Amino acid sequence: MKNFLDTIKPPVRELRAYTLSPDRASVKINQNENPWDAPQALKEESLRRLRAREWSRYPDFVPQSLHEKLARFAGWTPDGVIAGNGSNELIQALLMVTIGEGRRVLISEPTFALYRQVATVLGGCVISVPLTSSLTYDVEALLDVMKRDEPDVTIICSPNNPTGCVMGDGELKRLLEATNGIIAVDEAYFEFAEHTVVPLLEAHKNLVVFRTFSKAMAMAALRVGYLLAAPELAREIGKAVLPYNLNAVSQTIAETAVEMYGETLLPLVKKIVNERERLLEELGHIEGLTVVPSQANFMLLRFSHEEPRRVFKELLQRDILVRDVSGYPMLGDCLRVSVGTPEENDKLLAALREIVRELK
Ligand SMILES: *Cc1c(COP(=O)(O)O)cnc(C)c1O
Repeated sequence: MKNFLDTIKPPVRELRAYTLSPDRASVKINQNENPWDAPQALKEESLRRLRAREWSRYPDFVPQSLHEKLARFAGWTPDGVIAGNGSNELIQALLMVTIGEGRRVLISEPTFALYRQVATVLGGCVISVPLTSSLTYDVEALLDVMKRDEPDVTIICSPNNPTGCVMGDGELKRLLEATNGIIAVDEAYFEFAEHTVVPLLEAHKNLVVFRTFSKAMAMAALRVGYLLAAPELAREIGKAVLPYNLNAVSQTIAETAVEMYGETLLPLVKKIVNERERLLEELGHIEGLTVVPSQANFMLLRFSHEEPRRVFKELLQRDILVRDVSGYPMLGDCLRVSVGTPEENDKLLAALREIVRELK
């Protein structure tokens, strides 16, 4: 007799579920969130707007006013914008309208685990190109695979989670011109790299850019993301997005955040970038570990003497929670740390100096 679980597609059964350890600590640098909460002025203005709104009424079918504000903010056209319940929802929507049995998705690994997961659930074939040994994009290898396998969708995370490497515009243009497929660039961390590929949208109709409010925008709890694409492509991707996907609370607060970005959130982003540079510098002086250069608000630490799992536990005992990424391909010796507040970063540095000395 057939087991009820045999109904699940075999490639899905083989997938390891995407999980997050339930550990808690007062220095929480495991999810690349903004270490500062959303500023009070932004919260107050958002709450004022929410109080004035009728809660009994559906949110907009399509959040048009948010799309217009996002378009102005990003420098693109409103009919080429879709806001979603987190950018993950929109990555899924893109793959839903493109990927199925016999379709191919090209990614570089190690990268964000969700791409492989969603592509696999949808029945697509994932083609993976390793990053170079210095954990940067191997553009020549990507070009070779593109010519050989003609992937339907290629996903580039830039800056890449969890390595922090970026793809240059020149390299991205070569990829865009080498394929008739779609190239998706996940810009979840673009604010920290102070660079965007949005100016390439005009000339490259096969480019889709994904952004999130979960990192620099300090709104991970509210689940907002958006995509930018040619209007004719956005219209097709929109067919996989459920009506009323974005609730009125998130919609209202996202609009407020975009309007108040310059005076409330941008100063925090600048502080995080400064702290990243300081961390990279100071971590570089600790013997027994090496730090991987990063353009994001996180970085990889490689340990020469010790299992990263042991360092993870030692840090947790000191009330510091980082991300154990040692299960990712190529990252067996690595932990990932997010950039925290200056005080949190000082605690991390002191703890690591101590741990690496003791474990030697
Ligand atoms: C954090 C992150 C996101 C954000 O996803 P949301 O659904 O918007 O919270 C997207 N892509 C990458 C690579 C990330 O690390």
